[in-house]
Amino acid sequence: MVRKVAFITGVTGQDGALLAELLLGKGYEVHGTKRRSSSFTGRVDHLYVDPHVEDARFFIHYADVTDSTNLIRLIQEVQPTEIYNLAAQSHVQVSFETPEYTANADGIGTLRLLEAIRILKLEDTARFYQASTSELYGKVQEIPQKETTPFYPRSPYAAAKLYSFWITVNYREAYGMHASNGILFNHEGPTRGETFVTRKITRAVAAITLGKQKRLYLGNLDAKRDWGNARDYVEGMWRILQQETPDDYVLATGEMHSVREFIELAFQHVDRAITWRGEGVDEQGLDAKTGEVLVEVDPRYFRPTEVELLLGDPSKAREKLGWTHKTPFRELVREMVASDLAVVGQEKWR
Ligand code: GDP
Repeated sequence: MVRKVAFITGVTGQDGALLAELLLGKGYEVHGTKRRSSSFTGRVDHLYVDPHVEDARFFIHYADVTDSTNLIRLIQEVQPTEIYNLAAQSHVQVSFETPEYTANADGIGTLRLLEAIRILKLEDTARFYQASTSELYGKVQEIPQKETTPFYPRSPYAAAKLYSFWITVNYREAYGMHASNGILFNHEGPTRGETFVTRKITRAVAAITLGKQKRLYLGNLDAKRDWGNARDYVEGMWRILQQETPDDYVLATGEMHSVREFIELAFQHVDRAITWRGEGVDEQGLDAKTGEVLVEVDPRYFRPTEVELLLGDPSKAREKLGWTHKTPFRELVREMVASDLAVVGQEKWR
């Protein structure tokens, strides 16, 4: 039988947990890493089994992509056949506050893993997936963006991820490693981090509906993104590593919507229509029926350099991987609002 052992850095994140679940379903043994300082395991609790039981296939290890020796030791122990590097400081705005840490985790962290593969001489047995990002396109040089579109990073996050993209390509070319980049456009879902704009909106819609919050404060309402469902995207990551030859792929929906549209749609799911009044920082979103102000702009959420729009062209992934996103935009928003109504409903007032 072929050994199928996956090593996932950042397994407690949105994508890590979804990927772990997918791979366990495919019969893999899955080893995930989490930072000692991250106390949160909510997204993987349902996958956890006591490691003492005989058929346990899911294991969590403490590790940090800023710590080479612990990565080397763990990878030596686990001898993975597939390594998915999903660990990162993944928030663009936070990267302006913590640029050095972001460079260390999101940039050099990738190098540490690639070097671990080389030091342990696993080049021929372990495949490597790098979580690259549409943020690489930043100030976009063409619309839509595809694998050949030049990058123009617009944040410390994107600059660190740019290094990771190229070091992955370089190790593939220099050492013949099976190393690939998935350039994933924004992907969301009920377990998206609460400070990303989609989840911030759906949580607020739920909290406002349940009388636990009055208003939602946001930054740039005109930003446009290609938003897909994270559940569809982890399937694409796996497909990338099943290819004979390593390569780089855009995973996207090919559809773009504004933050404003996301807000309107999210409120529609709780039967509230939004109308807009004012301009710029004074713009407000009101309940069309009652006139109640539900959305306001807070310049605190503006970024020093903004990525105005992202729209992916997923043709290569469709042709070569047979991958397409499955969830329509409206359905994604509906699922997130429904989930947050349940989540916020169970929370104490905070
Ligand atoms: P990103 O594409 O990785 O930066 O994902 P985010 O969900 O953090 O942001 C998506 C877009 O929404 C960006 O253009 C933000 O500027 C915009 N945005 C507007 N208001 C907010 C806000 O309050 N929070 C966040 N996170 N983004 C916001």
